[in-house]
Amino acid sequence: MRKHVIAGNWKMNKNLAQAVALADGMKEGLNALPDIDIIICPPLTALAAVRNAMQGTTIAVGAQNMHWETEGAYTGEVSPQMLTSMCSHVIVGHSERRGHFGETDEMVNRKLVAAVLHGLTPIVCIGETDAENRAGQTLEVLDRQTTRALAGLSAQQAATAILAYEPVWAIGTGRTPAPEEANATIGLVRKVVRREHGASAAEAIRILYGGSINPNVWPEFSVQPEVDGGLVGGASLSAADFVALAAQTRAAFLAKSGQ
Ligand code: PEP
Repeated sequence: MRKHVIAGNWKMNKNLAQAVALADGMKEGLNALPDIDIIICPPLTALAAVRNAMQGTTIAVGAQNMHWETEGAYTGEVSPQMLTSMCSHVIVGHSERRGHFGETDEMVNRKLVAAVLHGLTPIVCIGETDAENRAGQTLEVLDRQTTRALAGLSAQQAATAILAYEPVWAIGTGRTPAPEEANATIGLVRKVVRREHGASAAEAIRILYGGSINPNVWPEFSVQPEVDGGLVGGASLSAADFVALAAQTRAAFLAKSGQ
């Protein structure tokens, strides 16, 4: 059974004091939930402080983005080498970065490879837009994004990455696919990983669902067999909601693994 994951993406929200307060507000509840991987991704300005606030707990901290180069003349960017001293995970290729900042599949791949080489666990986002969905191009888009993101990785390296299927039209909109549909789509993404990196990588890689998750809808998604957890935006800004989502993820994991 693949260990389940719940990850919170705080996006461009919370100043330093607010971020620490939010981390403090969820720390105890999250730390009482063993068996799953719990990751919070605050803005870069609060990464070190939130990491410090989470010290002594099982909660991991991640960045929301990074450059692929180790160092150099890239004003305003942050490198994987800088992140390794601050966090264990990094979100790569979020649709907001692809959409607002022109990140291409090639850039996502460079970031992913750099993250892996520096020992960071990448959470790689893939997902179709509303127009692509309506045009029946979902699988084609996911195949291309997955194949290109993981290109150049060994099967073992690919297996350690985390994929997050986030339909762009579901992010922050309150709209979601049916849980069974998300399950089937993630199953097809797993087949792409199998084709590109082999059966053991496909069986091992964790694939999350993301897009308008909240504690009312998450139980139906988290029990789906292909869904290995969730990537949460808006609801991760509420300590109570995020702790509830983590508890639901753990319950689903325990049920699937027969515990
Ligand atoms: C996200 O941005 O990764 C996300 C899933 O956002 P939300 O939960 O707000 O839809």
